[in-house]
Amino acid sequence: MKILVAVKQVPDTATQVKISADPRAIDTTGITWIVSPYDEFAVEEALRIKEKRGQGEVVAVSLGPERVKEALRSCLAMGCDRAIHLNDPAWNDADTLVTSKALAAVVKQEAPQLLLCGRQAIDDDMGAVAAQLAELLGWPCASWIMEEAIDGDGKTVRTARQVEGGLEVFDLPLPAVLTAQKGLNEPRYPTLRGIMGAKKKEIRDVKAADLGWAPEPPQLSVVTLEALPPRPPGRILQGDVPTAVKELVRSLREEAKAI
Ligand SMILES: Cc1cc2nc3c(=O)[nH]c(=O)nc-3n(C[C@H](O)[C@H](O)[C@H](O)COP(=O)(O)OP(=O)(O)OC[C@H]3O[C@@H](n4cnc5c(N)ncnc54)[C@H](O)[C@@H]3O)c2cc1C
Repeated sequence: MKILVAVKQVPDTATQVKISADPRAIDTTGITWIVSPYDEFAVEEALRIKEKRGQGEVVAVSLGPERVKEALRSCLAMGCDRAIHLNDPAWNDADTLVTSKALAAVVKQEAPQLLLCGRQAIDDDMGAVAAQLAELLGWPCASWIMEEAIDGDGKTVRTARQVEGGLEVFDLPLPAVLTAQKGLNEPRYPTLRGIMGAKKKEIRDVKAADLGWAPEPPQLSVVTLEALPPRPPGRILQGDVPTAVKELVRSLREEAKAI
């Protein structure tokens, strides 16, 4: 079974993100880049499916600038067989729909039986690309999955997602799009052998012209990014307990308007 995994490279969760001089973008100076954590669950699940079935191919695909190769290299070190990098300035200002259309063109070329994505990228948090991909491909989509099981013939997949108080179970015909939620699995760390082996695996660069891409302006434009106002400092209430409780209730009611 051929499985494609869409991975996005994002700033490390520990990064203190700053807005750049152009208020529509973040300052990327000194940022450590990682594979979006939900996409790591997707990669791990794809590798487990291949291992369980004893055959198949797992291909990681990402759209973004040259630095994205590092993220793809990490996926190869985890065990993906090869990678595809959509790497062209034509996609520099891609919104979710342009991103999805470019990824969909590669998915159509590769014709996998399964496309795995993260439930959302942890930087822009749109949670849109996977559903748009499913629509563009005409494939069914189950999102935020915590469990999956593909039938022996590779024709259908049973998935489960957590809902309030329980699990919701779906059957989908393949090919399909699934998006990974935390808890689906525990992503493996690349072994030293995996890291060394990744250097020899293929990362194919795909240019817009390779997809017969007609320039498409984004329909969503980022107007501005705004940092949250700094949190006011904490306050220690003075006096004995009855006085402090009285003051606490007053400030919760009159200042914070919380009660
Ligand atoms: C330089 C730059 C300019 C931008 N300009 C604009 C703009 O003008 N207008 C605008 O609306 N947005 C813009 N963006 C944001 C960009 O469009 C979003 O990052 C992208 O559309 C995906 O949205 P998301 O990250 O919220 O992904 P989500 O929809 O949350 O992602 C869900 C899943 O889809 C997959 N996925 C998402 N992105 C990728 C990817 N690049 N490669 C592979 N898989 C992916 C992953 O599996 C991910 O877990 C810009 C981003 C950059 C870096």
